[in-house]
Amino acid sequence: MIPFLDLQKINATYKQELIQAFARVLDSGWYVMGTELNQFETDFATYCGTKHAIGVANGLDALTLILKAYIQLGVIQEGDEILVPSNTYIASILAVSATNLVPVLVEPDPKTFNIAPELLQSKITPRTKAILPVHLYGQLCDMPAILAIAKKNHLLVIEDSAQAHGAILNHQKAGNWGDAAGFSFYPGKNLGALGDAGAITTNNDALASCIRALLNYGSHQKYHNTYKGVNSRLDELQAAFLGVKLKKLDSETALKRSIALRYQTEITNPKILLPQANNPLAHVWHLFVVRTEDRKAFQDYLKTNQIETLIHYPVPPHQQEAYKEWRDLRFPVSEKIHQTVLSLPLSAVLTKPEVDRIICVINAY
Ligand SMILES: *Cc1c(COP(=O)(O)O)cnc(C)c1O
Repeated sequence: MIPFLDLQKINATYKQELIQAFARVLDSGWYVMGTELNQFETDFATYCGTKHAIGVANGLDALTLILKAYIQLGVIQEGDEILVPSNTYIASILAVSATNLVPVLVEPDPKTFNIAPELLQSKITPRTKAILPVHLYGQLCDMPAILAIAKKNHLLVIEDSAQAHGAILNHQKAGNWGDAAGFSFYPGKNLGALGDAGAITTNNDALASCIRALLNYGSHQKYHNTYKGVNSRLDELQAAFLGVKLKKLDSETALKRSIALRYQTEITNPKILLPQANNPLAHVWHLFVVRTEDRKAFQDYLKTNQIETLIHYPVPPHQQEAYKEWRDLRFPVSEKIHQTVLSLPLSAVLTKPEVDRIICVINAY
């Protein structure tokens, strides 16, 4: 069986360095808020080209804390509206709900799967305060167009960069386009920890300072609490592991790009619709998502041929039980995407014979 994503094999390529990092932290006797976190934050900020990178416990917290900080700073009020894509992973929307803000869903472009800039304007009301574009599957949204609309309407832009570490357009990376960005280092993400982890990037000093307090009980100074904060710290072990893997992120991405390019040029079966990447460097291929009308038949066929695939995602947010209040809303583009998408195996440890076989099996379907 060719697994969808072999995390054991990916992390085995870093085994010696991960063990060294573990030993360093173990022997230091210091496990939270120390030098490993400081170093990773510096390295990740440098990588993204931003002034600040702030480690947090996970990607959902990253997005939630950005919104909480804007509320704390009086920039956003509870009940304000945030424009989000209607076909994202649920966490993007949960962050908005969790801060008592109102998610307003906007359909994606059917070719890129990313929020359609031309549909944003008609959704803007006097209560709209921010656009939350999600660089879905690793491809940067049309950020120049989104920033132009944000500027014209005085809106914030908060990037959900959880799937797009290192995606770059015009020398500007994911996480450095908007006012702030949330990253996830969930093990399966492009930069993955050995557990949960996340980060926030921003160039805004006041926002960064507020977030640093909020993630640590609302405290700038120990035992003095400015805000009703939370505990969402990135621990020393995960920071040390992430530091090891960050150094190789670009080479892993390059390998993924070369496999994605092979899929795009060598899969020629007309029943399979391939994803589009107009700017190759603006896509880091977190997922390689194809579309086909009879998805179940295609997925079963691949399974019979020992190829594991997954669906990202089977149920659109407005049809989730958690958002019953949206049951009567219709988002035809998103619904169609959710019914037809299938993610193929794609990772830096996929071998040439495996890629050959995947292409051959798909073309014979
Ligand atoms: C993974 C993911 C998140 C949430 O990150 P966690 O670290 O799992 O909390 C948010 N948004 C998107 C688009 C994601 O893919």
